[in-house]
Amino acid sequence: MEYASNILGTIGNTPLVRINRITSDLPCLVLAKYETFNPGNSVKDRMALKMVEDAEADGLLSPGGTIVEGTSGNTGMGLALAAIVRGYRMICVISDKQSREKIDILRAVGCEVHICPTDVAPEDPRSYYSTARRLAEEIPGAWYVNQYDNPGNTRAHYESTGPEIWQQTDGRVTHFVVGVGTGGTISGVGRYLKEQNPDIRIWGVDTYGSVFKKYHETGIFDPDEIYPYVTEGIGEDILPENVDFEIIDGFTKVTDRDAALYTRRLAREEGMFLGNSAGAAVKGVLQLAEHFGPEDVVVVLFHDHGSRYVNKIYNDQWMRDQGFLDPESGPPVKE
Ligand code: PMP
Repeated sequence: MEYASNILGTIGNTPLVRINRITSDLPCLVLAKYETFNPGNSVKDRMALKMVEDAEADGLLSPGGTIVEGTSGNTGMGLALAAIVRGYRMICVISDKQSREKIDILRAVGCEVHICPTDVAPEDPRSYYSTARRLAEEIPGAWYVNQYDNPGNTRAHYESTGPEIWQQTDGRVTHFVVGVGTGGTISGVGRYLKEQNPDIRIWGVDTYGSVFKKYHETGIFDPDEIYPYVTEGIGEDILPENVDFEIIDGFTKVTDRDAALYTRRLAREEGMFLGNSAGAAVKGVLQLAEHFGPEDVVVVLFHDHGSRYVNKIYNDQWMRDQGFLDPESGPPVKE
């Protein structure tokens, strides 16, 4: 018999799938590391489990303890699965701009969800950030995860995602392209791949409205780069400790409109039903075309599943409201 002893045993070993139509003008082979095959439907299951295991080993979390994280989506789901199997209480603290579905999904897997106002500064005691920290301090046996700065996030990808990509490509991968949020995925995979072959190029995909690209190019944290944007999961207004800028060769920025349109193209032209950071990532690959030759093997990682986005990217009215379906007028882009 062949079976996993619990759902956590199904995390990782995701497939690598060729992208055929969207990237057909590129000279190289483009392969998607397809992370929705994880049980929580995203790459985040890997780092969630790793951070819980680390906290157990460090004595920060013990039986009957409580996990607290400020998360609305994929990390919350990954932590919830680990919490269920290992016997912890799970509290997600989220801001009130999050969709109903996200709250319902977290509650469906047994999370306690605390909803905080969005329109307050991070240091305000009512913010989701302050509330998560306070709950972790007040509840006996509670542990605050902090995925942005927790080194287990990067290590999970160094130990699993990176080696899988290396083995699945027989060591022939030449470029890795991925959206950057906390930085765990790019830093862990990037470090592993460069240790195997320092010539492998690591490219980050950033949003307009995020600080990463400019910081990487100039060393300047520019508050003018920060403004609201639509693409979920990537781009930041902070510099998380998990972003290892030394490992990254460059960033390319993708507009919200392109991310949305390419997410829909992935679904309709490749049968790949994914979230909008995947559209951003594949558009990022196309923007980097000049860097690829006929012998190259480009791996792009797709983080999460389309089901969370049916009322957004996959909804025509929502797309029209954003101006994303009008060929003439995308939303303003600040260069
Ligand atoms: N895409 C989605 C949908 C995500 O949830 C995340 C995680 N924030 C990312 C991309 C970026 O991954 P990382 O945090 O590892 O940089």
